Amino acid sequence: MLNKNQELQLTITDLSYEGMGVAHTDEGMTLFVDNALPGEVVTAKILKLKKGFGFAKTVSIETKSPDRVEMSSNKWAQTGIAPLAHLTYAKQLEFKTKQVKTLVEKNKLDIDVLETIASPNELGYRNKAQVPVRQVKRQLEVGFFRKRSHDLVVMEDFLIQDPKIDNTIKGVREILRQYGITGYDERNHRGQVKNIIVRRGYFTGEIMVVLVCLDKKFKHLPEIADEIHQLEEVKSVYLNHNPQKTNVIMGKKNRLLAGNSYITDKIGDQTFMISPQSFFQINSSQTPTLYQKAVEMAELNQDDEVLDTYSGIGTIGLSVAKEVKSVTGVEVVKSAVEDAKNNATLNHITNSEFFLGKSEEYMNHWAEEGKQATVVIADPPRKGVTSEFIQSTAKIAPRKVIYISCNPATLMRDIKEFEEYGYTTKTIQPVDMFPMTQHVECVTVLEKN
Ligand code: SAH
Repeated sequence: MLNKNQELQLTITDLSYEGMGVAHTDEGMTLFVDNALPGEVVTAKILKLKKGFGFAKTVSIETKSPDRVEMSSNKWAQTGIAPLAHLTYAKQLEFKTKQVKTLVEKNKLDIDVLETIASPNELGYRNKAQVPVRQVKRQLEVGFFRKRSHDLVVMEDFLIQDPKIDNTIKGVREILRQYGITGYDERNHRGQVKNIIVRRGYFTGEIMVVLVCLDKKFKHLPEIADEIHQLEEVKSVYLNHNPQKTNVIMGKKNRLLAGNSYITDKIGDQTFMISPQSFFQINSSQTPTLYQKAVEMAELNQDDEVLDTYSGIGTIGLSVAKEVKSVTGVEVVKSAVEDAKNNATLNHITNSEFFLGKSEEYMNHWAEEGKQATVVIADPPRKGVTSEFIQSTAKIAPRKVIYISCNPATLMRDIKEFEEYGYTTKTIQPVDMFPMTQHVECVTVLEKN
């Protein structure tokens, strides 16, 4: 029998899809161990036990893996910001490829999984940060939550965020402290600032700061906004009002406090406006490769009529607009659709349209209407697309479906369903958008048989 808090020696045989070491005990239990790599023998302490499996953390490492990278701080592991940072980058890429291959085999699919394409930047690649703000020992602090908890681990160096963003966060923290602003207290639902969100255009250096606050207004807000606006590179300062007791970071309402209502960044030679609530790919050094791979695999031509579903601010559709006949986008976030329309104008694109709504509903509507499309791009969130989406796509009958996925598990499910409608793929190309984390991005092109 194993008990909580018990320490025991474990031989790590594998890495889970979440990047945890996997060990099997003599009792037939599977333990998932933080900060442990395949081939290592570690002493671990049991944190949680469930039926047949449990969680543990490494206390000491008896036999070290040659693939281990020594970290200068254990905060990144504690918070889960960078769950794979203790593994060499080459092995991280192998891990990601293997994960997709395993899923392909499990689902009995006949698909070639290509090697994961490395990110040009391995650290400091994130162009967006969302950090919690709390009171610690009566002082306003920023950091990140300890894994599986809401305890703040105070931090200044976030490892995978653009270092200029880390600097801005420090600057904002100092200003908030000067004015005696308090960080959020979850237990009593009090305090003023819940989160600081910072976005920085990788190619433009333009910074947007969003203060997520419990109240719409508080004392000294105009002066605070003004001082934040004066920080290096800051072009836009917002207050986001989130009065709810919730884990969702942003509330619905944004108020511009200082500067421009948006920042810009570039993908290739195109410029994109980004407003606070809009999605933008977070690894700017790798985004062009992700899109290029998709376009390459799709072999677009001047006769193509493209539907860009889950279009965000229109980045993919607008990137290919000049090579095709037309681009029609659909996206559920209103400000993102507005950004997409503005981005079309900004980049002199005249053959695109963007609609506000759910992709699955629009696809359904277009299928019934008999809309023509030769290529459908789908870039859904982690939960993938719906059956309704796949059915309507089949009805519209494009020659190709470009599927960009940030969750290989739902990708497999959706590929299987597409197969039922006569769409198949031969290859999946993983692209590393998120070094140091377990996340895998995949591009695949399904063709009509
Ligand atoms: N293609 C864009 C955005 C991808 S992220 C890019 O590469 O930048 C996924 C996008 O889908 C987000 O903008 C999100 O707001 C949007 N979204 C989520 N569910 C949706 C749905 N049901 N219908 C349409 N858009 C949706």
